[in-house]
Amino acid sequence: MQRPLSTVGVLETGAIVLGTNIIADGHAVGFSVRVVTHIHQDHIVGLSRSIRELGLIAGTPLTLDLLEVSGYRIPPSKRLVLPYGVSVSIDGDVLTLKQANHVPGAAEVVVELANGTRVGYTGDFKLPGTDILYELDVLVIDATYGVEEWVRPWQEEIDLLLADVVQEGLMYGPVYIYGYYGKIEEIMLLLRRHGVDAPFLVNQRVGRSVSVLERHGYRVGDVVVDGTREAREVKRSGWYIGFRHYSSWRRRRVLPSNGLRPVHILLTGWEFREPLRRVSPREWIVSFSDHADFRQLVSYVEEARPRMLIVDGYRGGRAAAYFASYVSKRLGIPATVMPDVRG
Ligand SMILES: [Zn+2]
Repeated sequence: MQRPLSTVGVLETGAIVLGTNIIADGHAVGFSVRVVTHIHQDHIVGLSRSIRELGLIAGTPLTLDLLEVSGYRIPPSKRLVLPYGVSVSIDGDVLTLKQANHVPGAAEVVVELANGTRVGYTGDFKLPGTDILYELDVLVIDATYGVEEWVRPWQEEIDLLLADVVQEGLMYGPVYIYGYYGKIEEIMLLLRRHGVDAPFLVNQRVGRSVSVLERHGYRVGDVVVDGTREAREVKRSGWYIGFRHYSSWRRRRVLPSNGLRPVHILLTGWEFREPLRRVSPREWIVSFSDHADFRQLVSYVEEARPRMLIVDGYRGGRAAAYFASYVSKRLGIPATVMPDVRG
């Protein structure tokens, strides 16, 4: 089968190599620029080392500011701020970031190499709301849900369903939502879009992210940080939405409730049976993901039609191998997994 260009691929460190000058989302020595597509942990591996050892750290204005509040200090001389659609030349390679629908600030990466080859990397994304990268010689894709059974037919309606469950819960008391960082911020914006105007109660870390979002023009509305006087008042009122990290779900029943009867909602990307599952009178599991499901992955690749596809096996595991073989067999596009997860 056709081999990928040796200058494009995924390294064992998780770095996506896009030519000889630019990498994304992992560390490797000898490159000029590291792009950070978004702030999730598996995309900022080795970032401190990249900040020390590489020339420039590139990202959207929002992503670079969110990194600062997560504790990464990027010297101003190393910050390469790239709004969506703005191109910069790095030793003859032209780098552009495109809009990805994933978490606020997320981007895809396109590099037109000095020799005319066009390569791209989706980062994490879901549809709609993500720019399709066309006319690429090589596309590196994230395929977290690259297995045929992993579909959420309700993915386009889930925003509305979730907003309804939240509104209903608020009629009786506070609502607690459990999810990963990044997703929490996305859900806050989603609820505001759907007219939910109860105050949000967050921890200090999310509070700092919200300030950055506001600075970048997002309207998050009324947000109070736990531990403050405002937070105590909001809690007494019983009308609020508390956001907690996914890992706190197992401690939900020991949450001090002040005699109120909170509704708890867990957001998970691994529920494929139904959009909403009520596990007890006041506990919901909601099938909500920031990643494309299998159908969306196939439709992205069908539309983009790269000459060659590399599936990110560092983050995709078994699904990456499955998706690569599906694309080669069914779509007739040469596809492989990197690094080779089959060992
Ligand atoms: Zn992500």
